[in-house]
Amino acid sequence: MSTTRTVDYFLQVQQPDGSWETGSGPMHDYNHALARLGIRRQTMPEYEHRIAQRTTVQTVTMLPIDEEAPTHIGGNAEDCPACARYVHNVTYPSICPGPSA
Ligand SMILES: [Zn+2]
Repeated sequence: MSTTRTVDYFLQVQQPDGSWETGSGPMHDYNHALARLGIRRQTMPEYEHRIAQRTTVQTVTMLPIDEEAPTHIGGNAEDCPACARYVHNVTYPSICPGPSA
């Protein structure tokens, strides 16, 4: 298992009801976000602006794989676990080729 932690920053702008909405795309550099905040405060002084930080944690986990492939059972392919792996390729009538396949 590996865990990756990323931090990014974005601007928020206050709404008339007092809530805060996202006001920019994500920025990886805090100083860049700070500069953008300054510009935003100059160009839109009628609104309140602030910087928010978002921390994202991604966890990657290896999954075990069933290495033993199911065998064909013959008959209706919809009932066969081996055919089910390729069900998008099966055309009607879907007949399983059987155990010798
Ligand atoms: Zn089959």
